[in-house]
Amino acid sequence: MRIVLMGPPGAGKGTQAPRLAEKINAHHISTGDMLRAETAAGTELGLMAKKFMDAGDLVPDQVMIDMIAAQMATQTAVGGPGADTEPGIILDGFPRTLAQAEALDEALQATGGAIDAAIMLDVERDELVRRLAGRATCANCKAPYHLTFSPPSKEGVCDNCGGNLVQRPDDQPEAVRHRLHVYDDQTAPVLDYYRAKDKLTVIDGAGAPDDVFKLLLAAARR
Ligand code: AMP
Repeated sequence: MRIVLMGPPGAGKGTQAPRLAEKINAHHISTGDMLRAETAAGTELGLMAKKFMDAGDLVPDQVMIDMIAAQMATQTAVGGPGADTEPGIILDGFPRTLAQAEALDEALQATGGAIDAAIMLDVERDELVRRLAGRATCANCKAPYHLTFSPPSKEGVCDNCGGNLVQRPDDQPEAVRHRLHVYDDQTAPVLDYYRAKDKLTVIDGAGAPDDVFKLLLAAARR
């Protein structure tokens, strides 16, 4: 099972993707998390990517395509013999452009595989901005919080592990506006790409996380 989880920034991909991956025994691959790990480690890739990320711009396609190819090569589920019995893949944050979607299909085809489904979390614009403005994540265990809607019991401290909560530089209002524009311009066409292949399911991402998860699971099992 290879699923692409799509949706604008703030739609809930980072909350839902790990849950879905655990439930259906799949690897969760988040290109945003991978880039943030590179940045935190101070690698050349990370430092280059940080400039784009902080501004709310996309990291260049070829960098992303090479990164995802290397990551997927380490997963046994990419395709080929035995792939059906191997864990699947939930892609979160990739592909974000048509060029990335096409490169992904080519890479999978080369191993006899394909994307099974693209699922989009649909959330209206005002709600996205509300969510992103209060979003915080545990720097240690990555647990997601919202400072207004689901705050930790102790300010700034993760309930799960006691780690520090941090807000992303690209969740600042100016970068959020730009990311939403970039999404409309470059990522929304990818929805049409999967729709034309009859692989797209759009679900309502506006509800509470547990309700959205039920819809997501039903769409993944369809
Ligand atoms: P995310 O955590 O998915 O919101 O990604 C955070 C940032 O990482 C994005 O705003 C981009 O700057 C960069 N990024 C993540 N995935 C991609 C991708 N597939 N293509 C280009 N840039 C990406």
